[in-house]
Order: sequence, then structure tokens, then C-alpha cells
Amino acid sequence: MIAAANLPDARPHVVIIGAGFGGLSAATALARATVDITVIDRQNHHCFQPLLYQVATAALSPAEIAWPIRAILRHQRNATVLMAEVTGIDTANRRVQTTSAAVPYDHLVVATGATHSYFGHDEWAEFAPGLKRIEDATRIRRSILLAFERAELTEDVAERARQLTFVIIGAGATGVEMAGAIAEIARHTIAMDFRRIDPRTAQIILIEAGPRVLPALSNDLSNYALRALTKMGVDVRTDTRVTGCDGRGVDLANGRINAGTIIWAAGVVASPAARWLNAEHDRAGRVLVRDDLTVPDHPEIFVIGDAATVKDESGKPVPGVAPAAKQMGAYVGKLIAARIAGQSLPPFRYRHAGDLATIGRRAAVVSIGKVHLTGFLGWLFWGVVHIYFLIGLRRRFVVAINWLWDYLTFQRGARLITEVPRQRQNISRNN
Ligand SMILES: Cc1cc2nc3c(=O)[nH]c(=O)nc-3n(C[C@H](O)[C@H](O)[C@H](O)COP(=O)(O)OP(=O)(O)OC[C@H]3O[C@@H](n4cnc5c(N)ncnc54)[C@H](O)[C@@H]3O)c2cc1C
Repeated sequence: MIAAANLPDARPHVVIIGAGFGGLSAATALARATVDITVIDRQNHHCFQPLLYQVATAALSPAEIAWPIRAILRHQRNATVLMAEVTGIDTANRRVQTTSAAVPYDHLVVATGATHSYFGHDEWAEFAPGLKRIEDATRIRRSILLAFERAELTEDVAERARQLTFVIIGAGATGVEMAGAIAEIARHTIAMDFRRIDPRTAQIILIEAGPRVLPALSNDLSNYALRALTKMGVDVRTDTRVTGCDGRGVDLANGRINAGTIIWAAGVVASPAARWLNAEHDRAGRVLVRDDLTVPDHPEIFVIGDAATVKDESGKPVPGVAPAAKQMGAYVGKLIAARIAGQSLPPFRYRHAGDLATIGRRAAVVSIGKVHLTGFLGWLFWGVVHIYFLIGLRRRFVVAINWLWDYLTFQRGARLITEVPRQRQNISRNN
């Protein structure tokens, strides 16, 4: 166990599990508080998930969207970082159990996020990877680029067509962004790079069980996205349910698609925080927290970000987005500091800044209150916002230059196929 006595002095000990948007925001909000903070994460880096699809589609390299947690908190003297996987929480003895040691806490912030949900079909994960971590993005990048290489190699016409078929399941923001980016790779980036195949003939199929793409946005933006995708050559199939995934394609309620690459962007489920805390949760596994983000009967435990569910002022659940996680983290940091100073704070209030999604070159949708932007203006706005939220001047500069270069040349600088499986050169067992 990492004993409290090993900590610098006997100040209250705040343990934060997860250095995503919520956890980091809680840690930085406590920078001036008279507490000792331990941030535990199973990864050594914080990942900027909104740009993961750019790594998956070879526009950016992993290091451009991920930062070492130690480096981010280097100057925060009251924060210690532990790289360890949390396996449980002993609420009675106030200890976090990890794969290496138990860590005692006075205040606990659980910010472990969410992961993909295959709606009870976890066996599909092997064939239809989701996008959550850097490893997922490089795996998908490998799969997309290898598909073109395999199509170039094979003499079999049906197999060539299969390799040149890309299926994306789920038409939320990630699915739309992935479909648009793969279409751009096929139609522009690598259009002239092969001699035996024409990458422009690739089929990119976006499947959505619901009636429209980007269901969280208004009808006009959703319709714009559909038109933009169709113009880019994406085959959008709404009201279409996937009933099976295997190494050679997907089964639909009304047929089958043979595909070399399948990408899952359809559902999320919260991390096991509710199980660790034996707390009430919603259908997606998110802990039902009180309006100060504490767990009922545990005023010393907070759950924030994608791992929690709380209602906004209008009674709707706060969405699982980065700004919400950040606001929750900042609130919890302030609340812990206030409580230690013998003060209190009003309940958490979520302020929705807006919704953004990019579809491709010069095509994005932006919704900020009553203002809706599409096309080039939306795309420009999307780019500026994402660059602004990246950590560090150097990365902002590098990403901006990369995007400008890609825009002018139609190129994608990170088209590397790494860690090719030796025997079959494929990401799925059966391919
Ligand atoms: C592909 C993708 C695109 C997205 N695009 C957008 C977007 O454009 N705009 C937007 O606002 N939101 C977007 N989101 C959602 C947004 O990223 C999340 O809402 C946000 O990251 C939630 O923050 P969080 O702190 O709750 O969790 P996360 O940021 O997911 O952080 C959780 C942290 O906990 C750590 N962790 C998990 N389990 C353990 C464990 N057992 N032990 C130790 N550490 C653990 C993880 O390593 C991770 O660092 C996107 C998400 C994804 C996956």
C-alpha cells in the first residue's frame, strides 16, 4: 500500500482516477488548494479523443494528440502521478485498489470515462474495432492502409472488391468523421498511388440503425451532413441494423456486406466505476450522482465525466462530451477546496457550449445556440476550436501546419503501416 505517511505531510489526500478531460481538470482546479493529489491512470498519456479519428485516418501522428500526464502536471507541486490500473475501490477503508498497490484517500474523484459497447455482442470487437485509445487509432489506420495494399496484391476480383469495401457502423460524430476521412483517402490522397487498383472505386458504407446521421444534432445539420457525405461518395444506409460481424464482413437485417475493414462507432458503456462503488447506474453503466456530483451516501466520493450521469437545468442528461467532463472536473476541484476551507458551493450547473462535427474537406456542422454553420465556415470554425483546445503551443503549431499542408496538397502525412501481423498481415483473425 502507498501509505498516507509516505505523502509529503498530513494534508487531505485527494485521489483522482483517470487523467482524461475530467480528471485533469479536477487536478488543475486543486493546484492552489492545501491538499496532496495522486492522479492514477493506466496510460502514461492524456489523449485528446476528439482528434483520434485523424490518427486513425493518417492525418496526424499519435504524439500530436497525446501528452505525457507527468509532463502536463510537472509544475503542479501538490500532484503525484501513478501509472497503474485501478481494479476496485474499498469504500469502507477508503482505499483505491490498483494492480500494484492500494492508495488511501480522503476525497476520491472517479473519472475513468467510457468504452465501446457492442450491445451484448462483445465477440464483434475482434472484427469491428472501436476508437477510444491511441492503440485503437493506429490499429484502424493499419487496417485501412493494409486493405488497399491487399487489394493491389490479389488477383481475385471478389476479394479485391471486399478489400476495397469499408463499413463504418454508427453515424454519430465519430462514424461520420471516419466515413468522410476514408472517402477522402480513397478519392484523393492515394488515388494515384497504385498501379493495379483504382482506390477511387472503394466503397465506403456508413450504417446507422436510426433514421438519420448525427442524431444528436438538429434536422437541418443532419440533412446537410447526409448530403455532404453522399457527395463524397459515401453510401449512407440509415434505418439499417447490424445483426452480425465476422472477419469477412457484416450481416444486416436485410442482407450482407463483404468488407475488408469494419469500424465500430455505435455505442459506449461507462467504465466499471458503478461496480467498484456498488452504486446505482443507468443503462449505459453511468453512476447516478447527486447534484454536487457525489455518490449517494458517500460525500467524499465524486464521479465525473463519461462515468457519471447527472441532469442539466432542463432535466436532460448532461451529454458525454469533453466540455462536460472538464466542467465537472473544475467544479469538483473547487468544491473539495471549498469544503476543506469550511465553505460550500451551489450544485453543479452544466453550460452547453455547442456541437461540432467535421465531415471532410470544407465540410463541417456547427451548432452554437441558434447559430448553425455548415460548409467552409463550419469547417474553419471546427479547425480553430480544435487547435485552441490542444495542449501546448508546439502541438497547436504542428497540427495547424499539418492541416494546412494536407489542405493544399490533399496529402496525409502519417500513412505508416506499423506492427503488421507476420503471418496474415491483417488485423482480424479470419481475414
Ligand atoms: C473517438 C471519440 C471522439 C470524440 N469526439 C468528441 C468531440 O469531438 N467533442 C467532444 O466534446 N467530445 C468528444 N468525445 C467524447 C469525449 O472525448 C469524452 O466525453 C471525454 O473524453 C470524457 O472525459 P472523461 O474524463 O470522463 O474520460 P476520458 O477522457 O475517457 O478519460 C478516462 C481516463 O481514465 C483512464 N482509466 C480508465 N479506466 C481506468 C482504470 N481502470 N485504471 C486507471 N485508469 C483508468 C483512461 O486511461 C483515461 O485516461 C469523443 C470521444 C471519442 C472516443
